[in-house]
Amino acid sequence: MKVLRVTTPGVIEVQDDEKPVIELNDDVIIKVKTAGICGSDISIYKGTSPVATYPRVIGHEFAGEVVEVGAGVEHLKPGDHVVVNPVCNCGICRICEKGRGNVCANLEVMGVHRDGGFREYVKISSKNVFAINKNIPWNKAAIVEPYTVAAQVTSRGGIEKGDTVLICGSGQIALTILQVCNILGAKCIMTDLVPDRLSRAVEFGAYKTINSGIEDVVSRVKELTDGIGADVSIDAACVGKTLEQAALATRPGGVVVTMGFHDTVAPITEFIITSRELDIRGSRLNNNKFPQVIKWFESGELDPTKIITDEFYFTKIEDAFEKLKTDPENTMKVVLMFDE
Ligand SMILES: [Zn+2]
Ligand SMILES: [Zn+2]
Repeated sequence: MKVLRVTTPGVIEVQDDEKPVIELNDDVIIKVKTAGICGSDISIYKGTSPVATYPRVIGHEFAGEVVEVGAGVEHLKPGDHVVVNPVCNCGICRICEKGRGNVCANLEVMGVHRDGGFREYVKISSKNVFAINKNIPWNKAAIVEPYTVAAQVTSRGGIEKGDTVLICGSGQIALTILQVCNILGAKCIMTDLVPDRLSRAVEFGAYKTINSGIEDVVSRVKELTDGIGADVSIDAACVGKTLEQAALATRPGGVVVTMGFHDTVAPITEFIITSRELDIRGSRLNNNKFPQVIKWFESGELDPTKIITDEFYFTKIEDAFEKLKTDPENTMKVVLMFDE
């Protein structure tokens, strides 16, 4: 079978590997049909990921068809269409015991710490595999995972119907969060420096947009919220100064959610946090969000179509990377197709 392996930063090769075989009772073998390219795949390829090791088969957003299951697997059978949760945890550490397996002490993410989905066949524990209705097209099934990340953010924010949410940044991840907020009945104020991105945010259902290059974000949010501030602010831009901005634009007793992975200092005073009694919470990957997101896909409440801008045959991954690099404003989610 063919696999896409980053052998060393900057080099991705189409290589031949042995097809996986069932070893454990709960193993599932999946024939991969489609996979989404994520920003973190690109940072592993470029060598800027703080967590990746090499060589690595990348890819953590993927869907496929079950071809074989171990003797102990009851909820899946060959022919099922499935999506895979790439978050692998130990299930026995203190953190897993506390129900926070997405930040497990022994966390391994497929495509990052262990080989991922950019290969024709994958073997994985059945607890990471979720069936999805066969009427969901493969290209859409590929990107259930990024919406689980969005669902994690909204759950960390405790977002409820009627809330006003500030989302700093209007890139692709911000748009997926916006879509989930809309399902939950929250109103989103989106910011960005790029006018085209703000127009796109409106198309995706933003309540208001703020051009952070020419408008003062904090005072605009106050104006839009009767002087109080947003119930929840999400820092999806993660460029350092957005954290303070998000905190200042949040009402007392509100929540600020961070999702960046930068290790540079994001300055913020204790006064801002304490005087408003803000909760500042990180959000990473997803914690049991696949069932909910799959339901939203199946019911049609969540339609990922507008996020998918490009499709490439999987061995053409370098062309896909090139498109993402040279035309970032018009390229959102690129899906790799494994069937010709
Ligand atoms: Zn991703
Ligand atoms: Zn654990």
